[in-house]
Amino acid sequence: MNISRRDLFKFAGISAAAAAVAGCSATTAPVSMKNVAVNSKLGKHQVVIIGGGFGGMTVAKELKKIDSKFDVLIIEKNDSFMSCPFSNCNLGGIEGVSLSTLTHDYSQAIEKNGYSMLTAVVTDIDRENKIVHTSRGGVAYDILVMAPGIDYNYKGQFPTWDAAKIAKARRVAPAALVPGGEHVALDRLVKNMEDGDVVVITVPKGKYRCPPAPFERASMIANYMKKEGIKGKVIILNETAEIAKGAAFKETWKDLYDGVVVHEDNCKITDVDFDKKVITYVQTVFKDKEDVTGVSTTKTLSYGVFNFIPHNMSNPVIEMSGVATTPDGFKKVKMATSAEKPVSFQTATDASVYAVGDVVGHAIPPSGQSAIWSGKECAKEIAHVLHGKSYSVASALPFKSANVCYSMVNGNPEEAIMVNHEFMVAGPVIGSKGSVPKGDEAANKFRSKGLGKATRDWYRGAMSDLFS
Ligand SMILES: Cc1cc2nc3c(=O)[nH]c(=O)nc-3n(C[C@H](O)[C@H](O)[C@H](O)COP(=O)(O)OP(=O)(O)OC[C@H]3O[C@@H](n4cnc5c(N)ncnc54)[C@H](O)[C@@H]3O)c2cc1C
Repeated sequence: MNISRRDLFKFAGISAAAAAVAGCSATTAPVSMKNVAVNSKLGKHQVVIIGGGFGGMTVAKELKKIDSKFDVLIIEKNDSFMSCPFSNCNLGGIEGVSLSTLTHDYSQAIEKNGYSMLTAVVTDIDRENKIVHTSRGGVAYDILVMAPGIDYNYKGQFPTWDAAKIAKARRVAPAALVPGGEHVALDRLVKNMEDGDVVVITVPKGKYRCPPAPFERASMIANYMKKEGIKGKVIILNETAEIAKGAAFKETWKDLYDGVVVHEDNCKITDVDFDKKVITYVQTVFKDKEDVTGVSTTKTLSYGVFNFIPHNMSNPVIEMSGVATTPDGFKKVKMATSAEKPVSFQTATDASVYAVGDVVGHAIPPSGQSAIWSGKECAKEIAHVLHGKSYSVASALPFKSANVCYSMVNGNPEEAIMVNHEFMVAGPVIGSKGSVPKGDEAANKFRSKGLGKATRDWYRGAMSDLFS
């Protein structure tokens, strides 16, 4: 396949920043092109980053900030960025928030920060020859950073479902946990709901992206219904009994959405009839903490709108790389550890390969804020390696407020709740400890208008971190 240089640069106005991309002369490329394998049609870069999301964009920006001579390329499959954070505010009909509030063009970030971007799908990784294969050809690297985010594990959760049924699930009951069209589809379903509709949101067991997100989503959809005068219910079928920021959400639902937001514990989805719009699930009720068996009952539930969030797993890019992962369903990347660098964003398997964002094997929340924090630390590690020095992430720890995550729970007035995580060294990984403060101490409530404003400020700040 012949790839022209123009094909590489999907975005207008990035040719200067992208001069170090494939096909360029050795004089403009900081890295020697001599060792590029024969099938590496798109050239070589010092640092290649898979994924232009929260983690990947942060690593790229920070590397260029540390040393503008670093040759950094992001490979991203989407040609524009859509934020998952703040997307529930769009569903909630929060003033001035729309799908366009969530959408950003990459060219701004590329121009501002001077890294390169290739719009292509990563299809394989050859670690032996240090080449990332993409839908547009191979790209060679000295250092690879994997920041591809999550995927859904429908097949693992429902082994008997065929490809057509899984495709239908994705289409008619979008999970909306990854950037792109699923957010548009869920927005359409919610905005077209009718009086009496039941909205069902499932919460999977195991590690999943942004643990408070389904509960914030339930609150925001209930807010939308209240605002529009739509009668109905939002039923959360939770596979476990855990609710992130649980006391704060429960207090809010009781105060603002009593009888509208209904949370059901320990519900294992066993099947869904997407034509009849019926969910079958088994709910287990436990007498007390000592009761490990419980009493299980099979139930059915008809829905009008279904936000079906299945089990999550690391994006298949991780499996393509062949690095070691944890044996759980999520397959987190195993991270390097040594006496000199107890915790790291280097993978345990390959010193040339790093990982950031939701895929990491650290015990930190899978959030955009964690990905930004991690991206900055990962960039420092890589910059030191490229400069022939050593840096230990442990020297930055403990770190207070490494992850601050807000959830909007009310639209009129705008009110939110929050969790604040400190990160620390916890054996061979980075650990975290969270606390959920009362936002309104005078009223003794978790939610407050101050936190509502902080939610907007956080989103503005995060977008500014990534795009300016
Ligand atoms: C509804 C919702 C609300 C949230 N709210 C918050 C919040 O308030 N605060 C917060 O901190 N976090 C929040 N999060 C979590 C946050 O979105 C994620 O934790 C964060 O995006 C993880 O960053 P990442 O870099 O790992 O992955 P992403 O940001 O998803 O980036 C991964 C990128 O890799 C690309 N990619 C994947 N596969 C390939 C491939 N094969 N080839 C090329 N490119 C590929 C994807 O297109 C994507 O752009 C929320 C999430 C959701 C779903």
